[in-house]
Amino acid sequence: MTPIKLPKKIIIAGPCAVENKEQVLESMKQCKQLQIDFIRLSLWKPRTKPGFEGVGEAGIEYVVEAAQQGLNPGVEPMLIEHAQQVADAFLKVKNNTKLLLWIGARNQNHYIQRGIAAVAAKDPRIFLMVKNQIWHNEKHWEGIVEHVLDSGLPKERLMLCHRGFAPTADNNPKGYRNVPDYDMAMRMKEKTGLPMLFDPSHTGGSVEKVFDIALEANQHEFDGYIIEVHPNPKVAMSDATQQLTWGEYRKLTQQMYNKRVQIAKEHKVV
Ligand code: PEP
Ligand code: MN
Repeated sequence: MTPIKLPKKIIIAGPCAVENKEQVLESMKQCKQLQIDFIRLSLWKPRTKPGFEGVGEAGIEYVVEAAQQGLNPGVEPMLIEHAQQVADAFLKVKNNTKLLLWIGARNQNHYIQRGIAAVAAKDPRIFLMVKNQIWHNEKHWEGIVEHVLDSGLPKERLMLCHRGFAPTADNNPKGYRNVPDYDMAMRMKEKTGLPMLFDPSHTGGSVEKVFDIALEANQHEFDGYIIEVHPNPKVAMSDATQQLTWGEYRKLTQQMYNKRVQIAKEHKVV
């Protein structure tokens, strides 16, 4: 039988936020074993209500450590100066690792978006990902893409991510944390010609729903996934209900792969 060859997906995985050394080292070990494309190492956290806001600048040493170990770190800077600090430290590691910066759904100030993009634009080892904003509006998401490209970032180093939109009273029968609009995500992918990832963690909101929505999204043409995984989600300092264990991550990605094989067979593309 001809082996099935499916297009490779870009995977960003790791904890919602960096918390401590032990958690980061275990995440790095797992990401290496699983050949994860980018390890989530977020240091600053946008929070709906006051709470843990991330370890901040003190965690930059882990971004450096990941790069020294040959992993590609991914960080969400909240401010332009965060992006600059991370980029400066990362670029001192002279190897071929890549740094991913992303603009999150709550960071909707175009001065900051343009500034972060300008930091990313300065070096070919830095990539940027733009998530959709919280509210359901295609023009706004397009606008963020235009702002970051207009700041000099080459298209080749930009990707997008759909993380769902804030639910309304009557559009969320499945009780997701954020409601996906797959048609819009696919239109944005088509219109911009950029890779489109999907975030089942911030869409799902609980482990069970992360599985459901990842398998649902898997039936669309997403180019990759960003998934929150914590060595011990029970003690996570943010988004504890939605973070998978590494065992659950393995189970989910295997199920997603099996489903894609099944779909490919049904469409006789193999
Ligand atoms: C995140 O990815 O850590 C995050 C806060 O998600 P979002 O910006 O989609 O809310
Ligand atoms: Mn999170």
